[in-house]
Amino acid sequence: MIKLTGLTDEARFALDNVAEAATSLTTPNIRLGVTGLARAGKTVFISALVHNLIHGGRLPLFESAASGRLARAYLKPQPDDAVPRFDYETHVAALVDERIWPSSTHQVAELRLTIEFESASYLARKLGSGRIHLDIVDYPGEWLLDLPLLGKDFRTWSQEALAQSHDSARAGLADNWHKRLNETDPLAEADEVIAKQLAAEFTDYLRACRADDRALSMLPPGRFLMPGDMAGSPALTFAPLSIDPSVRLPKNSLGALLERRFEAYKKHVIRPFFRDHFARLDRQIVLVDVMAALNAGPGALRDLEAALTEILQSFRPGKRSWLSSILTRRVDRLLFAATKADHLHQSGHDRLEQLLGRLVGRAIERASFAGAQVDVLALAAVRATREAMISRNGEKLPAILGTPLKGETVNGEKFDGESEIAMFPGDLPENSEALFGNGKPIDGYGAEGSDDFVDNPLRFVRFRPPRLEHTAEGMTLSLPHIRLDRALQFLIGDRLA
Ligand code: GDP
Repeated sequence: MIKLTGLTDEARFALDNVAEAATSLTTPNIRLGVTGLARAGKTVFISALVHNLIHGGRLPLFESAASGRLARAYLKPQPDDAVPRFDYETHVAALVDERIWPSSTHQVAELRLTIEFESASYLARKLGSGRIHLDIVDYPGEWLLDLPLLGKDFRTWSQEALAQSHDSARAGLADNWHKRLNETDPLAEADEVIAKQLAAEFTDYLRACRADDRALSMLPPGRFLMPGDMAGSPALTFAPLSIDPSVRLPKNSLGALLERRFEAYKKHVIRPFFRDHFARLDRQIVLVDVMAALNAGPGALRDLEAALTEILQSFRPGKRSWLSSILTRRVDRLLFAATKADHLHQSGHDRLEQLLGRLVGRAIERASFAGAQVDVLALAAVRATREAMISRNGEKLPAILGTPLKGETVNGEKFDGESEIAMFPGDLPENSEALFGNGKPIDGYGAEGSDDFVDNPLRFVRFRPPRLEHTAEGMTLSLPHIRLDRALQFLIGDRLA
């Protein structure tokens, strides 16, 4: 008999997985991770995916639905009692009834969708109809970017974080924090008030990096911007310090206190997240707001590429890493999706996809990534716009129609959230390669005549969720989307074969 009390966390965790595998013998399950940085579109994606599956949405590229083999899909209680449930009903009510966007992801949440289908193979059909649990795990992408911290000590991390804060893409954002740092003596006696001030100013700097005009991605520690249920706890009350490498930190010093908390963050925050949630995933979609980065300029694109490289690395960690030792399942399909494609006319979707493909391709090279199937696509989980051709100066141009959110301004006109407009959304450059200049993202769009020239750069207007259409019989149709079905096919299509 095994004595459970004597087991390490990792061994106990492996046993849990054996138990989980045993209970899923009757009905197989897939654990699908949905991640992305704040506002990338996770909440909207999960709500739309589930809504379309439950309500028989139009999914022509999702093979089992297109061939009529999808019998039904319904929500069931999730397997993990201690994880918050994804609040599907509230989010869908916001989208469908109120036509407002749901409140975003701030922590891990889970939802189980059971799908009944008829197998395409004769033999499997004879064995009875198929059933599978799709366990969707929603978590902030910021937390994934914490993985590299495990390999660093407080001084190394401090040095790197300080160097990064002097990067040109972050210019001017860290001034207050730098000033405070200059006034701080790491060797002075530990003082909680100073620790809190440092943490608050460091967090303000990270928050400014994330704001729309900079749209940066690499902003660890992930819980500083996305604290989940840990806001205000000591494990989050630390910040980088500038410490002379030759100096020993006295036990009661501020430096020693912050160093201890950095270690506590690794132990009590990073490791449990990877062990309890990440290590159990089978499939993963990473949602990326490419247009937000593009809009903010080359620094944001470079930073996004660095973030994608880190994310890829976490899916195939080196054999000797701690993460490898606890991975009991391996993600074998990984999808990168550029979200909110409905902000572009369909002629721009391929360009958006191409741009993300370019970013991920470079990340794959840099991370020397191999092992899982990786795909890239541009999608809109909820399509808030329609398309039309509109005449301007005798020329027909592709436009999008939608209802701008209340308060949005277009050409100086402020909108009330009720009236619909037609607008030319602008273009992405035909050749995304050009956005990277000599291997580096370049500043905005190029000059007339050059490869990356667009005479109509992107314009961003946030639209309200769409009004749902009704069939002739009065049935409400499910949420419209762009390529959500292609994402589904890649992520779970093979398991419904
Ligand atoms: P999360 O932080 O990753 O959970 O992001 P959300 O799913 O809450 O999305 C953030 C915001 O992006 C939403 O409030 C919407 O304004 C916008 N958004 C997300 N998905 C779509 C989409 O498919 N189409 C459009 N037009 N907007 C979207």
